[in-house]
Amino acid sequence: MPSVGVLALQGGVAEHISILIELGCEVKEIRTPDELESISALILPGGESTTLISLMNRWELIGPLRAMGEDGFPIFGTCAGAVLLSKEIEEKEHEVSQNSLRLADVRAVRNYFGRQTSSFVETINVVGLSELFEGVFIRAPLLLPLSDEVEVLSQVQDGPVLLRQRNLWLSSFHPELTPDSRIHRLFLESHGILKGSG
Ligand code: GLN
Repeated sequence: MPSVGVLALQGGVAEHISILIELGCEVKEIRTPDELESISALILPGGESTTLISLMNRWELIGPLRAMGEDGFPIFGTCAGAVLLSKEIEEKEHEVSQNSLRLADVRAVRNYFGRQTSSFVETINVVGLSELFEGVFIRAPLLLPLSDEVEVLSQVQDGPVLLRQRNLWLSSFHPELTPDSRIHRLFLESHGILKGSG
């Protein structure tokens, strides 16, 4: 049974865990560097990226996670998790001095899709899925590719909302907030962690 980690410092941890269990994975909640040892992929959940990065700093996770990401380890950041993977972070047209793992050639525009109370659902097309997906957006970032290595797997009218750069996946929406496990499956299958269903 593949073992998948979910960073469990803050944010939407439980929903990712349910989806991963449904997909037949063993799930490990990650809070410390030694817990990273026996997993084959990691999810960085949504929440508040400023809080998450300071907790990651306190738990000395930034260095180990950066090294794993640079080494090809599969990491999927959703919403705030995607901000944490991005090399550049902007807040509504001005730079913010926010630290991140700086792994993906992506510029994240934080809170692009609305502030605190603003959330919406949009039906999106995703490369690799034969049918549409309901994307739940909550104070979501826009994710702008900074290099040709970044593939756009889904976009809405304003721009990209699901990106992949080799081992790194970034979504501005929350694929864990619908009962639909297809995006988690796509991520895990494309890294050979789950076997293809067809
Ligand atoms: N706006 C939050 C941030 O930038 C992300 C919100 C979320 O994860 N739903 O940290």
